[in-house]
Amino acid sequence: MTSESQVRADDRAHVFHSWSAQGLIDPLPVERASGSHFWDYSGRKYLDFSSQLVNINIGHQHPRLIEAIQEQAARLATIAPAFANDKRGEAARMIAEIAPADLNKVFFTNGGAEANENAIRMARLHTGRHKVLSTYRSYHGSTATAITATGDPRRWPNEPVAIGVVHFWGPYPYRSPFHSESPEQETRRALQHLRDTIVFEGPATVAAILLETVVGTNGILVPPPGYLAGVREICDEFGIVFIADEVMAGFGRCGEWFAVDRWGVAPDLITFAKGVNSGYLPLGGVVISDEIAETFRERPFPGGLTYSGHPLACASAVASMQIFKEEGIVEHARALGDDIIGPSLHRIAEKHPSVGEVRGLGVFWAIELVRDRTTREPLVPFNAAGPAAAPMNAVAAACKERGLWPFVHFNRLHVVPPCTITAEELREGLAILDEALTVADEYS
Ligand code: PLP
Repeated sequence: MTSESQVRADDRAHVFHSWSAQGLIDPLPVERASGSHFWDYSGRKYLDFSSQLVNINIGHQHPRLIEAIQEQAARLATIAPAFANDKRGEAARMIAEIAPADLNKVFFTNGGAEANENAIRMARLHTGRHKVLSTYRSYHGSTATAITATGDPRRWPNEPVAIGVVHFWGPYPYRSPFHSESPEQETRRALQHLRDTIVFEGPATVAAILLETVVGTNGILVPPPGYLAGVREICDEFGIVFIADEVMAGFGRCGEWFAVDRWGVAPDLITFAKGVNSGYLPLGGVVISDEIAETFRERPFPGGLTYSGHPLACASAVASMQIFKEEGIVEHARALGDDIIGPSLHRIAEKHPSVGEVRGLGVFWAIELVRDRTTREPLVPFNAAGPAAAPMNAVAAACKERGLWPFVHFNRLHVVPPCTITAEELREGLAILDEALTVADEYS
């Protein structure tokens, strides 16, 4: 095995990391992983409350998933997208079966950004219009149109990239952009704002509304009652394509196969990645309604990827969905949220003055930290970096010292362990979070 010092040396000398100032990072070398844990080279064990980038829904190193990939690799490692392939077809059929309404076809990509790129491309060609409406406080990926559609600071240094994207505000009852006093009022005002945006942009120019069903990295923002159904109605009224980005929220994370199932709403396109095969191999895609698929019956779809529907990735998706069904992982994720995470986080919130709000569902929760519960001033300012981010860094360090790997974003801790985490592991991790939050309390 390569030594830890060699791993570090190669990484620092030659690996160019995502989203980072290359000289200011010191990535932890990881040696192995299993279930809800991973280990560094010194043998230190971490409970993975991040699921890495919220993608290891099935847990690390699931033996049956590894076996399925090995079997497929031995038989047919790769074949171009123009051929038919058993695992590609089976994965597409299984995804269509769990998708709502008439979303019956799947275009496979290598990840989430490409899924959103292609969904937008489909919506534009289907409607003959060019504008895409997406929300502030969103992340849709780092390729050209996906980063332009992103509504957070990751977009800023990339501008200008693509044209035709207009941002609007989605609902966020705790910090309401509409100064609402109840979730119901937030829904009404957010829908009115969306309608006004469309009217003033010109309805005949708007191809798609793209939104995360449950906003992920930007705060686990669960839509208030009636919001998604209202977006569906607005899309129908103006002939706009509704694209639900379920790259993070899908495949068990919200205690449903697709998060939209919680609200019984059927979008026209759903984008997915991450949890479809827990990232054991790169895979994403777009689930497409019959009506949109029909647009491309006679007319060629002008997009493609060498690795679209890669047999190894598709074999892992098939195995993953089978395992999810046999082991009842979606139901398990829902129960963990209802019975353990929700009640525990509400207890934790009562105890710690630094906790402004806890919210979420399934295994998709946020703890929003504040300096002052009355004013709701965030524990660190929006987009804090360097010394301004110190309080959150201190909380993260307190978690890591105790063997918990947290997911931290701005003034929030996200509780996003694998969907397969056991009740015991979950309670252990929540107890560590509880302790670590005393560090945040010192700043409140
Ligand atoms: N959409 C959402 C909601 C995401 O959370 C992400 C990644 O975190 C993406 C899209 C981009 O996915 P990828 O990194 O696979 O391109």
